[in-house]
Amino acid sequence: MTVSLSSSLLSSYAVHPHRRALVLGGSSEARALATRIAADSRLAGVISLAGRTSAPIAHDLPTRVGGFGGVEGLTRYLVEERISHVIDATHPFAARISANARAACAVAGTPLLVLTRPPWICAQGDRWIDVDDNAAAARALGAAPRRVFLAIGRQGVANFRLAPQHDYLLRVIEPPQLADLPPSCEVIFGRGPFALEDEIALLREGRIEIVVTKNSGGALAYAKIEAARTLGLDVVMIARPVSLDAATTHSIDAAMAFLAS
Ligand code: NAP
Repeated sequence: MTVSLSSSLLSSYAVHPHRRALVLGGSSEARALATRIAADSRLAGVISLAGRTSAPIAHDLPTRVGGFGGVEGLTRYLVEERISHVIDATHPFAARISANARAACAVAGTPLLVLTRPPWICAQGDRWIDVDDNAAAARALGAAPRRVFLAIGRQGVANFRLAPQHDYLLRVIEPPQLADLPPSCEVIFGRGPFALEDEIALLREGRIEIVVTKNSGGALAYAKIEAARTLGLDVVMIARPVSLDAATTHSIDAAMAFLAS
């Protein structure tokens, strides 16, 4: 685990000892919040990344990388680093770190706010097949072979080995484990945001018949949903994990107000 705190963070801790935010990151919302915190002289903060991507996008706050070591490790971190507020701005599908944050904040007595984006809602012209998880998504593709665009990232792709009759086009940021891939699977690399016309071209040129995606929500990844709608394609939509019983907002302004509380 790498931990780095800049001298500017440490000095602002000294000036404002009561406002030491930990932002659990890995999302565009976390990046946007980091920029706001960095610009507010009343606040100090550190952003935490899991370390999944080899070249993460830079943040405006000091950044630590790597797991904490479960609930116990995160609790210890909150106490040792004298964190006053935690904002869980992780991706909506990162369920374990969110559960850990909930538990660690309860033990340490640290206020927690979840900052997340609203899920996508099925719109007119959408042809969604709603499922609960990756395994159900693989089953929903049906028995007949199809050309499938897998927009689920690399985690969970092994589930589609259970449906080896299909031809897959998998888009990822980081290389997947080869052993996880279904037998007929082309891998392409890309990090959003993606333009609608590019997504339409990708689906057309790939002769895609059905799209599989997680209901991540937000604008940056929405073009594939619009592209599928434009082309009249089915979309297997994987629902979010059950959300925590924790104070939640979709608003960066509300998160800033929480930090000032
Ligand atoms: P996860 O299953 O909820 O977490 C697995 C473990 O990774 C956690 O127990 C924790 O390790 C560590 N971890 C996760 N997020 C962390 C963070 N922000 N800072 C420090 N440690 C973290 O998470 P995941 O689904 O693998 O996602 C990993 C990261 O990628 C998240 O930060 C998330 O925001 C981002 N991301 C996820 C997805 C997705 O679809 N899941 C998509 C885009 C981005 P310890 O228990 O050792 O603390």
